[in-house]
Amino acid sequence: MDDWRSSITTVRVVTDTATPTGAQVPLVDYLVLGAHPHLEANRCMSCGARFFDRRNACASCFGTEFERVAIATEGTVRAFTIVTFAAPGVPVPFVSAVIDCDGTSVRGNLVNVEPDPSKVTLHMPVRLTTYSMGIDDNGTEAVAFGFEPT
Ligand SMILES: [Zn+2]
Repeated sequence: MDDWRSSITTVRVVTDTATPTGAQVPLVDYLVLGAHPHLEANRCMSCGARFFDRRNACASCFGTEFERVAIATEGTVRAFTIVTFAAPGVPVPFVSAVIDCDGTSVRGNLVNVEPDPSKVTLHMPVRLTTYSMGIDDNGTEAVAFGFEPT
């Protein structure tokens, strides 16, 4: 097939009739889209611990009040592994990492970098980026996040 789709690797068109409407949904609810995409965490009002998932109580102090806070979009690689085996349909290899975003640990994949141990280093500076996961029949695009070298 020699049409526009063959040159796009990050967008998987679900059907031939899928047309982007401009509507986007984040793949995870702690990813906030818009002009300045960023992550938001639930911050414990008692001790300041931050969690990306919803909690009834803080795992550090059992506090029960939380506020949503924006997480820094730049950080450094704290740990990483190069994944070479995954479920069918998941392209490998890829780099799974823990990013220190100004004190908040974020799990995410590194993108726009070769999945090679000589190209990824601890403490490497990275920034948040988003990419398309595909467009559904209604034209709504699913958007994921990753981190890329700065
Ligand atoms: Zn707490």
